[in-house]
Amino acid sequence: MSLPAPRGDLAALEGYHSPQLDVDVRLNTNESPFAPPAAFVDSWLATLAAVPLHRYPDRGAGALRAAIAAHVGQPPERVFAANGSNEILQTLLLAYGGPGRRALVFEPTYALHAHIGRITGTGVVAGERTADFRISPTEAGLLIAAVRPAVVFVCSPNNPTGTVEDRATVEALLAAVLDHGSTGPRAPGLLVVDEAYGEFADFSALALVADDRPLVVSRTYSKVWSLAALRLGFCVAPAPVVADLERVVLPYHLSAATQAAGVAALAFRDEMAERVGALVAERHRLTEALGRLPGLTVHPSGANFVLVTPATDGHAVWQRMVDRGVLVRDFSRWPRLTNCLRITVGTPEENDRCITALRESLEES
Ligand code: PMP
Repeated sequence: MSLPAPRGDLAALEGYHSPQLDVDVRLNTNESPFAPPAAFVDSWLATLAAVPLHRYPDRGAGALRAAIAAHVGQPPERVFAANGSNEILQTLLLAYGGPGRRALVFEPTYALHAHIGRITGTGVVAGERTADFRISPTEAGLLIAAVRPAVVFVCSPNNPTGTVEDRATVEALLAAVLDHGSTGPRAPGLLVVDEAYGEFADFSALALVADDRPLVVSRTYSKVWSLAALRLGFCVAPAPVVADLERVVLPYHLSAATQAAGVAALAFRDEMAERVGALVAERHRLTEALGRLPGLTVHPSGANFVLVTPATDGHAVWQRMVDRGVLVRDFSRWPRLTNCLRITVGTPEENDRCITALRESLEES
């Protein structure tokens, strides 16, 4: 054989798949249905025109970190930015995971936590959520004591279920990670709360981040800020954790264009807050309308998507919706998500199309 073999432990690993189809209504990847405000694009392009493109970007992303810090009410030393929150998660695992260490996830949850864990050679242990997709603090505490994970991932709101964990649960997990998590003989583990959808929920762990607590909260510009194409995410973490992340991330990983966009976007927080309000209102409308459809269970969501379980073959329902020009995400064959479909909240028109397509598809079953 004239070609190299990848690392042995990658052999069983599948890439991340989120199939795209050419349909009218795409409600399958949890993006914002709105383009960013035109005034944002103008201000970003004006800044870009003045960037010295022959020079490397600001390695510490100082202006961006200061702007994010002001936005979240934390000091800039506690902010780290990267190419999407996926790169945040990867950088966390490069620093705190790796061979001989374990990451704990609570399934069903965002597949990339386990996937990036495996890519970084971290052992991945899957705990279970309760029947209503919550994390039981008692069971999680027992598991953390048994597994002694270096990193515990909590996705809240959880993708794909929409479940929001409350403050008591986050604090209980934090206590368990402090007492029983392990990144060394006397060093605790790290609790990572993935809040990619945090703006749509009524609880955020952001304010709990402090320099003496092993807690990291990650966020993204991909959803609320309508900038999925740009790839920008950030986390708020104890300052020493941010210093560790800076040690492992590639130099100049965040382009000048991305940094400038991140700063420019934050000047439009009123517009973005309005959009969050509109999407949350649409989520309520969608949840109610779908809740009236016979043969469908709608799960409570604090995100910009809603998980539903048809009483019949979910994949067949998904296909009938595609036939009607509406693409949602098919989780019907995932472990613990039998028959489930995840619907991203779109514009009112898209949501109407989705409700009709789902109603007709269920009637055909
Ligand atoms: N975390 C969660 C829970 C997500 O659903 C996503 C996007 N699908 C991400 C992180 C990654 O988002 P991005 O890399 O675009 O910031």
